[in-house]
Amino acid sequence: MRILETTGSDELATVYVAALDDKAERIVEFVQSTQPPVPSDQKLVLIVSTMLGCPVECLMCDAGGNFHGKLSKDEIMEQIDFLIKKQFNGNKITVPKLKIQFARMGEPAFNPAVIDVMTELPEKYDAPGLMPCISTIAPAGAKKFFDRLLEVKQKYYNNGMFQLQFSIHTTDQEERDRIIPCKKWSFEQIAEFGQRWFTPNDRKITLNFAPIKGMTLDPNVIREHFHPDKFAIKLTPVNPTYRRSETGIEPVIETEESPEGRKLQAEFEALGYDVILSIGELAENKIGSNCGFYVSRLKRNQQ
Ligand code: SF4
Repeated sequence: MRILETTGSDELATVYVAALDDKAERIVEFVQSTQPPVPSDQKLVLIVSTMLGCPVECLMCDAGGNFHGKLSKDEIMEQIDFLIKKQFNGNKITVPKLKIQFARMGEPAFNPAVIDVMTELPEKYDAPGLMPCISTIAPAGAKKFFDRLLEVKQKYYNNGMFQLQFSIHTTDQEERDRIIPCKKWSFEQIAEFGQRWFTPNDRKITLNFAPIKGMTLDPNVIREHFHPDKFAIKLTPVNPTYRRSETGIEPVIETEESPEGRKLQAEFEALGYDVILSIGELAENKIGSNCGFYVSRLKRNQQ
């Protein structure tokens, strides 16, 4: 792996763009970030790619398109090893929380190698605070992946050390198909899996919404399917991506003070949900810490 570009700062986020070999399309992005106000010696977040591009092409994501295949277990692990080596000597991880998000480029449920990496990590690193995080659109046909994921969570990460997130965005199924243009699990299927997944030791499963102007988000529809004892809600802005400008979609939530965001938060809370209104750092947007941003820019410049 050869680093092509490094952007950002250790205080917030550093984005690495790297060539896996000498083929022009085999470029990945990965990120080391902190979560202010939590100091970096208390928590580190590593965000790695699982695919070269993504076949789904969601309306707001720069990782979509230019799909050139899945990364192997070693290619995913190489990103993690690189980031860990920058921070620590050897395989003992001294930071109390090390979150690894399989969420930069690529839908993780399309790539079984993600499970292999999660299986190997606890053997490879002495990291009591290791917490994998899967953020998924719940693609149809990935039952085997999710069944294996459940087994790995039960075996290695069963003390609240796994974060599972489903990206939903809207409660209207036609709009959901527009935003995430591929076959997906229905709300019933996600809820059924949540029933199998969740034990009292676990973190609640997150349902993530980046609400879009003109699209429907009805908290009552969510409550019909997902119990607040097992599911929590995350509300986020739609990131400022190239793809967002091309598709013309506009975010409902832009700042923490956004009245629409606060209203949605209150509505979900009234139904019994824990709600995170996660705005992120504006500085992080300036760094371009959004999925696929740099590879997308590189490819656009080559056109
Ligand atoms: S949001 Fe996820 S599934 Fe959609 S295009 Fe981006 S990486 Fe792929």
